[in-house]
Amino acid sequence: MSVSRTYDAVVVGSGPNGLAAAVELARNGMRVAVLEGRSIIGGGTRSAQITLPGFVHDLGSAIHPLGYASPFFRLLPLEDHGLKWIHPQAPLAHPFDDGEAAVLERSIGATAARLGHDAVAYRRLMEPISADAGRIAGFFVGRPSLLRHPLALASSGIRSLRNAEGLARSLFEGERARSLFAGNAAHSFLPLDRSPSAMFGLLLGTLGHAFGWPFPKGGSQALADALASYLASLSGEIYTGAPVRSVDDVPRTRAVLFDVTPRQLLDIAGEHFTEGYCGALKRYRYGPGVFKVDFALDGPVPWEAEGCARAGTVHLGGTLEEVTAGESAVARGEHPERPFVLLAQQSLFDPTRAPEGKHTVWAYCHVPNGSTFDMTGRIEAQIERFAPGFTDLILDKRAAGTADLERWNPNLVGGDINGGYMDLRQLFTRPMPRLNPYSTPAGGLYICSSSTPPGGGVHGMCGYLAARSALRYLA
Ligand SMILES: Cc1cc2nc3c(=O)[nH]c(=O)nc-3n(C[C@H](O)[C@H](O)[C@H](O)COP(=O)(O)OP(=O)(O)OC[C@H]3O[C@@H](n4cnc5c(N)ncnc54)[C@H](O)[C@@H]3O)c2cc1C
Repeated sequence: MSVSRTYDAVVVGSGPNGLAAAVELARNGMRVAVLEGRSIIGGGTRSAQITLPGFVHDLGSAIHPLGYASPFFRLLPLEDHGLKWIHPQAPLAHPFDDGEAAVLERSIGATAARLGHDAVAYRRLMEPISADAGRIAGFFVGRPSLLRHPLALASSGIRSLRNAEGLARSLFEGERARSLFAGNAAHSFLPLDRSPSAMFGLLLGTLGHAFGWPFPKGGSQALADALASYLASLSGEIYTGAPVRSVDDVPRTRAVLFDVTPRQLLDIAGEHFTEGYCGALKRYRYGPGVFKVDFALDGPVPWEAEGCARAGTVHLGGTLEEVTAGESAVARGEHPERPFVLLAQQSLFDPTRAPEGKHTVWAYCHVPNGSTFDMTGRIEAQIERFAPGFTDLILDKRAAGTADLERWNPNLVGGDINGGYMDLRQLFTRPMPRLNPYSTPAGGLYICSSSTPPGGGVHGMCGYLAARSALRYLA
């Protein structure tokens, strides 16, 4: 494939951050092209029929609280380009062995009502942050507004720097609230006794109440397709089957934005960087990987606990102790017998995902980076534990280990889905401590992937912020 035109900016990679960067550049009058190595755009937001005909599975991201709340995506007319968000009745359920579940409902009151003695503590924690969530988000795209609860927010900010296990124990007395919080915090991929795992517990809970945990109708691919369609309406161009192996593969342009992680950036453009920058890219740390299984089912998952069938996402890991032990084992390089499983059941709320009466399930657990261990049986056992009869419903399944994931998308280094470890040291200073984390020492070369702030997840903010930086250079 050869692209012979001249551009103001070229984006390498069409993940949500690459597409977001291209859109922001094109919205500002830049002539933009995106080069995607694979034959289909979308990166982590791709969907495909990988089991039986008619069953649509999300290959990467499934549930999009960050995408729906993203202050940048909210500025864009993505609904006019085919995106339709589906909100399950409840964002999340977290079942226990006694047949009951904690449920993160849209309403803080309804959530708290099932948390027994912890109802008041839960409301006190969530109400001020949720009330200000939209205002905080607006701040990042230059739409500041006065906060309603600045003091409560400051205290939540300090709490978020703590570890999730300690915060859950100090705030809540009961297992329900503690475990609900722990499940959200485990999205950090950090051991729950490490800071800032609490930040993820607070963030995902808040997003659930303030925005919901929706997903795109038809699959997460619909988000990538809507971004691409909007980009085309701004005269941006996308070329697929166009892997970039060196800067020489990029057509004539004034700026290049790489939607890749530090390891690839070093391979592609290392010769243009200073020794110090190359050294920092080499030292960049990747986090644990994931082991994923997609199921085609003969019917809905037969959950025991009320609330699970109303939720788009179900966290399977039982108590705070069990979730903490599982995540600590992964951090030690082990494979927990009872892994913490994140499960999504989109077809319950989106009939386009499976033939009538049939269903899809998307599930993964954390594993050590580069793991070659097959976790299929352990994931199935965790689902069966809370939904007896589940395994009898399996019509087909497709498992993906860390190497399969990286083969599919080279950004998933060792199966790390966040573009790098997100501990305190590397969350805000990725890929390295630098005044402008999106720029590199080579004028006109930028990094725009989730290996930059604010990090992993589908929100496009890394791409947007990198594009803002490139626009200053191009001005
Ligand atoms: C299994 C899994 C589950 C996930 N679940 C969720 C979820 O539920 N919610 C959520 O918000 N996030 C989730 N994520 C994370 C989310 O998908 C990522 O954080 C997000 O996609 C990162 O976007 P990105 O644009 O930085 O990179 P990516 O989406 O990884 O895109 C990078 C793109 O660049 C292309 N590329 C790479 N190198 C080159 C090259 N040299 N030349 C040309 N093209 C290249 C790749 O092919 C890819 O298309 C999940 C990810 C995975 C894998």
